[in-house]
Amino acid sequence: MSATYDLITVGGGLGGAALAKAMAERGAHVLVVERERRFGDRVRGEVMAPWGVGEARALGLETLLLATCGHELRWADLALGGMPVAHRDLPATTPQAAAWLSFFHPAMQETVLDAAAGAGAEVRRGARVRGIEPGATPAVLVESDGRTTTERARLVVAADGRTSLARKWGGFPVSRDPQRLLFSGVLFDGHEAPDDTGHAFFNPGIGRMSLFFPQGSGRVRAYVGYHKDAAPPAAAGRDVRCFIEESVRAGVDPSWYARATDVGPLALFEGADVWVEHPYRDGVALVGDAAATSDPTWGQGMSLTLRDVRVLRDALVADDNWTRGAHAYADAHDRHYGVVHRVDGWYADFFMEIGPDADARRAQALPFIAADETRLPDVIFSGPDQPADDEVRRRFFGE
Ligand SMILES: Cc1cc2nc3c(=O)[nH]c(=O)nc-3n(C[C@H](O)[C@H](O)[C@H](O)COP(=O)(O)OP(=O)(O)OC[C@H]3O[C@@H](n4cnc5c(N)ncnc54)[C@H](O)[C@@H]3O)c2cc1C
Repeated sequence: MSATYDLITVGGGLGGAALAKAMAERGAHVLVVERERRFGDRVRGEVMAPWGVGEARALGLETLLLATCGHELRWADLALGGMPVAHRDLPATTPQAAAWLSFFHPAMQETVLDAAAGAGAEVRRGARVRGIEPGATPAVLVESDGRTTTERARLVVAADGRTSLARKWGGFPVSRDPQRLLFSGVLFDGHEAPDDTGHAFFNPGIGRMSLFFPQGSGRVRAYVGYHKDAAPPAAAGRDVRCFIEESVRAGVDPSWYARATDVGPLALFEGADVWVEHPYRDGVALVGDAAATSDPTWGQGMSLTLRDVRVLRDALVADDNWTRGAHAYADAHDRHYGVVHRVDGWYADFFMEIGPDADARRAQALPFIAADETRLPDVIFSGPDQPADDEVRRRFFGE
């Protein structure tokens, strides 16, 4: 069976579109299958960590995003139980010398998918993948306008997001963390959060947190997170008034909401990580959320997605044997996702765990962190190449 394409991506979100652009630029014949004709607000990630911005730079996306939809947040402010804990100048303190990059997710998706098409990838929108047949020349069943066709490639890359069906079609065993955190988000206009700063408010005494990522001109993506055992309200994912009340309970100044109006859907997600060990087998690789859906509370998903894309691109460009290249990518994925997963878990233990033991742990560590904010593990800002060993954990927990 001969392949029509070098590469087919299932999904044209950040992961699929960025990989299509990167490989088409290097001469590969690429097909992107994306079910949405136009992207809408599905309450997804809207701030990229500095280390993700470094990955975007390596993929030729940073300048493009800044020119089309990006808004830089130089400062990262953190408050705990109403007390300021950190005020960090991100470009001055990260190895990437980068700020947080904030944008409206659908605008970012349109930009990256247009760039893939501009680089020569064939993009089919309004087309849905109905199945994958793994193998030496894997096949993708594409339904479009009531017709199903079979397309073959040297490599199929599933980038179909957090509810990936490709994981099942490809026969990948899936691992999950136990449920712990819940996470909701909504977009506001007329919000008073300062325009150059991303904010995190934690109130672990009541199992709440709230995050704000301004996009310019008073538009702000806001999130509220809950510990599942801290009585999240039944209306947490439905009622914007409830969202605002819970955000204020997390420690936010209510005046920020005085003139705010919601301008998009409100949605609530389970935070537990879901991942695949070694996300390549039998002609099918997984990238982005399909490979590992990380807890959105810690804002690592898009950076991980671009790391996946960059590593897979480099592996395929370096080795004509794409089976070997895809295995090399999958090994690297286990390492970089493993580091982020471990450190996210420490953050969840420290900032969101409830009960007397967790309170005692915070009471012990906070004075040290207040005196030296470099005790906060830096993987979340600077990426998985930063140290994340037991010594880093001990410094964080003040042990
Ligand atoms: C509430 C929330 C907040 C978040 N906050 C942050 C944050 O602040 N920072 C951060 O870095 N990350 C954040 N994330 C994570 C981030 O949104 C994801 O990591 C990122 O969007 C993953 O990109 P992706 O391309 O893998 O998947 P997606 O963005 O989900 O894209 C998948 C694409 O595949 C398409 N598709 C799916 N199935 C099919 C099919 N069968 N056929 C054709 N097309 C298909 C979809 O239409 C979609 O376009 C957050 C996530 C959530 C849920």
